[in-house]
Amino acid sequence: MIIGGISRISGPVVLSEGMRGSRMYDIVKVGEQKLNGEIIRLDGDQAVIQVYEDTSGLQVGEKVTNTGLPLSVELGPGLLSSIYDGIQRPLPLLAEKSGSFISRGVTLPGLSHETKWEFKPQVKKGDHVSGGDVIGTVTEYHLEHRIMIPPFVSATVEDIFSGNFTIDEPVCTLDNSVQIPMLQTWPVRKGRPYQRKMDPDTLLVTGQRVFDTLFPVTKGGTAMIPGGFGTGKTVAEQTLAKWSDTQIVVYIGCGERGNEMTDVLTEFPELLDPRTKRPLIQRTILIANTSNMPVAAREASIYTGITLAEYYRDMGYDVALMADSTSRWGEALREVSGRLEEMPGEEGYPAYLATRLAAFYERAGRVVCLGSDERKGSVTVVGAVSPPGGDFSEPITQNTLRIAGTFWALDTNLAYRRHFPSVNWIKSYSLYLDQIKEWFATSGFSDWKDLRARAMYLLQKEVELQEIVQLVGPDALPESEKAILEITRMIREDFLQQSAYHEVDSFCSLEKQYWMLRVILSFYDRLDLAMGKGVPLAKLLKLPVKTEIGRMKELTDIDKIKDLITQFDGAIGKLEAER
Ligand code: ADP
Ligand code: MG
Repeated sequence: MIIGGISRISGPVVLSEGMRGSRMYDIVKVGEQKLNGEIIRLDGDQAVIQVYEDTSGLQVGEKVTNTGLPLSVELGPGLLSSIYDGIQRPLPLLAEKSGSFISRGVTLPGLSHETKWEFKPQVKKGDHVSGGDVIGTVTEYHLEHRIMIPPFVSATVEDIFSGNFTIDEPVCTLDNSVQIPMLQTWPVRKGRPYQRKMDPDTLLVTGQRVFDTLFPVTKGGTAMIPGGFGTGKTVAEQTLAKWSDTQIVVYIGCGERGNEMTDVLTEFPELLDPRTKRPLIQRTILIANTSNMPVAAREASIYTGITLAEYYRDMGYDVALMADSTSRWGEALREVSGRLEEMPGEEGYPAYLATRLAAFYERAGRVVCLGSDERKGSVTVVGAVSPPGGDFSEPITQNTLRIAGTFWALDTNLAYRRHFPSVNWIKSYSLYLDQIKEWFATSGFSDWKDLRARAMYLLQKEVELQEIVQLVGPDALPESEKAILEITRMIREDFLQQSAYHEVDSFCSLEKQYWMLRVILSFYDRLDLAMGKGVPLAKLLKLPVKTEIGRMKELTDIDKIKDLITQFDGAIGKLEAER
């Protein structure tokens, strides 16, 4: 065992001598209190260590012990509904063990090693198995938790058991005398292997109109939500965590204020999944590393989170990972780098910021899992970015922009006007449009891309028209262009605005989204036709059916939405006849 001694302490960064033989990313125990730390640089027999816990009181000369193990997480039944800190210590247990203040040097396993789970085998003696093969299942809440052969193992089943076991007891023995328990451990800084990545061709349905219809993200895709303070990043992340059509959600509260995380912790256990009607918390893993918690553990939290996500992906499930906010993660990186006296890059961030960000988002994807049964699973990553002052030119926003497939730009002005979600429709984009056109078509919305393109065209046109209005006043516009302004107002208010708190509207099915937009655009076509026949716009806009369109959001019966088309067609027909 390698044992060294502290020669220098600088905030969360500690220098230790006598560490020859250590490896990068080894976990060490620092000082009398055995604070958890990780080696992040080696130079001769000197090791630089980032410490995951508060280092106050630590003294030069105290011992540092290398565990010889990389920072790893425990994987197995019992992860769902857990609340962890950045290094997978269960927060409720930590609090219990140490009162309201988290005491230092506490090592707690991520999973219960006492709980027994009923294991149902799926292979038999003599079967050949290799990494990723499912050997049996356990019911975790309502999820079929698939127990897999760990990666890189390949052998023949010698014995397989059934019944109740803890995660440490073997459920299978192999002919190479390897015993397989339900527990796997995995180093968080290394992506878990899969067979191959697939094209991002399936929509992640979020139930949010501005996301699904205008700027969609795919299962296995990546999205970023940059926005200034109060623009709705946290609400967006939480809304996505609630309504995304994935079996599993990993939610990382990274460096934000503690009360935002409290909202999640108190709200989730009470909420039901709209699809399965089961408590949302049962499909969720929460990782909380709020602003009052140690900065190095915040750096680790996104790796801990994505490793847990990959584990469920490997079982063949769709997983959504929310990180709020990656800026706070970047600041942790910057702080540690500053203590290391590294050459600072842009705005004091280390030069490796871009590669670290890319390596993280790179772990998203829809894949063919390891194993012989061609399971498919996905990890979708949605990262909030909080640029200081809402200025998107700063390094975290810029570097994430190069990587993320979907860009949901939150807008301070829209938030100020209470237009929520405050997604700016001119600045935002999705790179997945072509790839998921086919998916929309097979889901029954073959003209989605055309509808979307028309809506986007009108919204862009609105910007031009508004400029003219500002210069010369609204009366200068011809009727046809006034009609456009009226329609785009409807698109903005009656379609894009969606309250996260409305009983009905907080979740909007794809079918409803489609028909809502179709109604508004058909209304536009019908107006246009009537105006061609000489009906004055003012008269058309007074039709009561227009108010009805404004109430579509509250409807649950899609036939009533479709019926609006017949209604305004009839009403406008009458106006035409009166001429
Ligand atoms: P940020 O995390 O960007 O600082 P929040 O997510 O905390 O901002 O949002 C700030 C406030 O904006 C919320 O408390 C809420 O009142 C409002 N808000 C944001 N998004 C929505 C939404 N989709 N529907 C209704 N209100 C919203
Ligand atoms: Mg926030």
